[in-house]
Amino acid sequence: MCICINCTYVDRCTTYHAVEAQHLQPHLIDQPDFEAKSPTVNVNIRTDYEDIQMEWDVVSCESFLLEMGKWIKLRPGELVPT
Ligand code: SF4
Repeated sequence: MCICINCTYVDRCTTYHAVEAQHLQPHLIDQPDFEAKSPTVNVNIRTDYEDIQMEWDVVSCESFLLEMGKWIKLRPGELVPT
């Protein structure tokens, strides 16, 4: 699971913005202005016959600042990205 959903910078972060694009998710904002320090992104590739799916998750980041439920506070009632 991507740690960004519980990070206080999720709605301002350029790295998370890129992850949203990879997941074809709507962006929290159009113009992020925060550069994360040393984010590590894990890319999982799943294949099912001819279908190839890629899952991008930030698994560590020096800028991470815990704010539990930050993403869901911004998008109440929506499914939290996994
Ligand atoms: S954990 Fe890092 S990459 Fe993820 S939203 Fe926070 S600052 Fe950005």
